[in-house]
Amino acid sequence: MADKASSVLIIAICGVALTAACPVAAEEAVAPDLREAKKVFGAIKVPVKHPPQAIGQYDRGCIAGAQSLPVSGGSWQVMRLSRNRIWGHPLLVRYISKLAADVHRLDGWSGILVGDMAQPIGGPLLGGHASHQIGLDVDLWYTPMPARALSADEREKLSADNMVDPATLAVNMAVWTDAQVNLLRRAASYPEVARIFVHPAVKKALCETAGADKGWLQKIRPWYKHDDHFHIRLNCPSDSPGCVPQAAIPPDDGCGQELDDWFKKLRAVPKKPTKPPEPAKPMLVSDLPKECQSLLRATEQSVRGKAATN
Ligand SMILES: [Zn+2]
Repeated sequence: MADKASSVLIIAICGVALTAACPVAAEEAVAPDLREAKKVFGAIKVPVKHPPQAIGQYDRGCIAGAQSLPVSGGSWQVMRLSRNRIWGHPLLVRYISKLAADVHRLDGWSGILVGDMAQPIGGPLLGGHASHQIGLDVDLWYTPMPARALSADEREKLSADNMVDPATLAVNMAVWTDAQVNLLRRAASYPEVARIFVHPAVKKALCETAGADKGWLQKIRPWYKHDDHFHIRLNCPSDSPGCVPQAAIPPDDGCGQELDDWFKKLRAVPKKPTKPPEPAKPMLVSDLPKECQSLLRATEQSVRGKAATN
């Protein structure tokens, strides 16, 4: 095993070079990092330069070389800028801009309001999500973009329209229209999309209006919440061997038994717990893939280096 001084040197040389030559040295170099991951990753303001790589699982990983999505494009605007979750794999950035342009040009949608992507180097988030960690997830609003530039203040305060009536568990026809159906159909149509999460009531409305063309509904997956936004997840890119794909989705359109089971779950009266639930164990930096720990250390070193030279 390398002694402490040479290990530090190896880290300094390797930096975030996640090549075959470096990871073992990086692994030997430091004691387990027992800091709470979301606090540490949530504190990173900008990524270090690196070839793009999505690393680990969607809910346990990070992103090296993330790009930021411009906060205003011709056919999209990013909301909640204060969160600094505008980062993603370049594939995700390209996907969002392509989708926004296509729905605007081809479907007459005014434009897309973009919610959370990932943090600058991904990792667990300080609030709101278990996933969104490897730069391949994005939340988009069902609400169409207003035909004017929103101020930074409006982007913090405007709320997204809720598509679901909580009393009936059906879509709210005051806000749900064919335009949202077309938006979701278009979003699912690109091969890089792995799945799209929506509220079960939204999936049901899609099943009822899709007609004979139901193939695209396979990618539309019911999940909790997702009543005021939908969540797009891209497949692992070819440049990211450390990206862990999810299990394959069921082969059918999901409009039958699976959806019925969801409504049973949503309508079930929650049982009173007999004892208070155990608090969830926080994810530590050491719980993440080794490459993410190396990326974090290199990013923190770079921040310290810049602070020292200022
Ligand atoms: Zn999401």
